[in-house]
Amino acid sequence: MRKSWDEYFLEITEMVATRSTCDRAFVGCVLVNEDNRIISTGYNGSITGNKHCDEVGHTMRDGHCIATIHAEMNALLYCAKEGISVKSAKCYVTHFPCLNCTKALIQAGIKAIIYKEAYRVDDYALELLKRNKIEIKQISEV
Ligand SMILES: [Zn+2]
Ligand SMILES: [Zn+2]
Repeated sequence: MRKSWDEYFLEITEMVATRSTCDRAFVGCVLVNEDNRIISTGYNGSITGNKHCDEVGHTMRDGHCIATIHAEMNALLYCAKEGISVKSAKCYVTHFPCLNCTKALIQAGIKAIIYKEAYRVDDYALELLKRNKIEIKQISEV
């Protein structure tokens, strides 16, 4: 049976997540434009060209690894670097975004977040998504 767009892109996020270099979280993100074309991808990892956690270990502060850039931020920042508009794009992501990524996605003009795992869902992130009328959809089986 032919996959839906949501299934198709969520499966791709899982493939992207396998590239994560911080084993504290394997997260993958795909940004998709209104024509259902992928405009960017991102996974959890260090700054491009810098040493990764899987080579030098984590850099811990307050119980979190601070070396990594989250998948969603990586996907957004590639667009910032290359001058690609993310206005009205959809964000497909393996795990529900953290508060900081949620704020960045809203501010960048993302109109929908489609995720698989409801991992540490932040109440305030949910409230911000609702307040700013961002569509959120969980698809747990793909
Ligand atoms: Zn790490
Ligand atoms: Zn995040």
